[in-house]
Amino acid sequence: MLLGCIADDLTGATDLALMLTREGLRTLQTNGLPGDDLDLTGACAVVVALKSRTIAAKDAVEQSLAAYDWLAQKGAKRFFFKYCSTFDSTDQGNIGPVAEALLERIGAQFTIACPAFPAAGRSIYMGNLFVNGTPLAESPMRDHPLTPMRDSDLRRVLRRQTRSEVGHVGFGDLEGGQASIAHAFERERTAGRRIAIVDALTDRHLRDIGAAASDFALITGGSGIAIGLPSAYQKAGWIEHLEPAPSSIAAPPGRGAILAGSCSAATRAQIGVAIASGLPAFRVDPLAVAEGTVTAATILSWLSNCDEAAIPLIYSSDDPVQVTAVQAKLGRERAGHLVEDLLATVAKGLTGKGFTRLIVAGGETSGAVVAALGVQALEIGPEIDPGVPWTLSRSGPKLALALKSGNFGTPDFFVKCWKLLK
Ligand code: ADP
Repeated sequence: MLLGCIADDLTGATDLALMLTREGLRTLQTNGLPGDDLDLTGACAVVVALKSRTIAAKDAVEQSLAAYDWLAQKGAKRFFFKYCSTFDSTDQGNIGPVAEALLERIGAQFTIACPAFPAAGRSIYMGNLFVNGTPLAESPMRDHPLTPMRDSDLRRVLRRQTRSEVGHVGFGDLEGGQASIAHAFERERTAGRRIAIVDALTDRHLRDIGAAASDFALITGGSGIAIGLPSAYQKAGWIEHLEPAPSSIAAPPGRGAILAGSCSAATRAQIGVAIASGLPAFRVDPLAVAEGTVTAATILSWLSNCDEAAIPLIYSSDDPVQVTAVQAKLGRERAGHLVEDLLATVAKGLTGKGFTRLIVAGGETSGAVVAALGVQALEIGPEIDPGVPWTLSRSGPKLALALKSGNFGTPDFFVKCWKLLK
């Protein structure tokens, strides 16, 4: 293994693993800190998915350092700390404290922070982050329930989270290409800055930044900044050759099913298309789950009456008005856990009935499902839509899984994704 990555959430980890795979590094993703016995054969990069974005900074630091220790012990030479492209964090952390703790543990003097991902509408100019052309603090992230982003200037945001000096590598530095960027990194480092926010408006910038930072022990950023790393590592002689991106996946034989716990607009549209195309669907009502009138057994017995050739869809997804009404009755957390636990138990029941190919919609929902299935690691396969690949389980039951962040994917996602399976 060359590159050891630590991601602060599950679907973000998949996003990074997919980017690295697409650019030529064979990548394995783990769900949480894996055991020592995990088989890493063939992996040039490993992404450890934590759930540390919104936990207390002290716990995020502890978990990230444990992930670093595991990766270093497995032979990683370079490290990447992955967070969201909207820099999701608060004045307490966790981006700054984790980056500083990793620098200390690695014994490195300097790193960069670059969440830019122009292809997904995230660019940085003069240290300010823009989301689809809108300053971060005026974007919907302004009202995020856990990490409201009310300052678009990432230098200020990071300064509030760190003890060390924050620097900046700007557009003027980028325009001079790789050598000019490397020179700017050195300028910031010798000025005593430990972390520099780096502007980026195009993929060209990201590739130049990756090349200029390829000898850094630690890089921090979104998945966008990883675009230039595989080719930079090859040029630097760290890896022999780049692997072609997989175009299909050898899924284990068996039936397929879709489990959706995301209430995001994209997932609800995908459910609409799936139902219109004739997939048999079971709608889970969280109130019925709370009363105990709908259980995993109810759903599994409904399944046994479905046509074996059809792909069943089991969903709890609902519109914001209904979700608010359910949350008012059950409480936000209880409603979430009830549905996550139910879908996770159904997923387990499905594997016992010969289902080997599962689509799961929703970040939290996916986390609950892979934990229930005992899947420790995932091999990254072909990209279905930006940010969502098919994956193969490397431990636990042999499964093909597509874990979809709620808002990802085109409306026909649930119908078209099966074509990439061999
Ligand atoms: P996304 O990726 O779209 O954010 P998540 O799975 O991360 O999706 O989060 C959706 C949350 O909403 C989960 O905790 C899920 O259990 C919960 N949930 C799903 N359906 C409902 C519903 N009908 N009412 C209330 N909460 C729901």
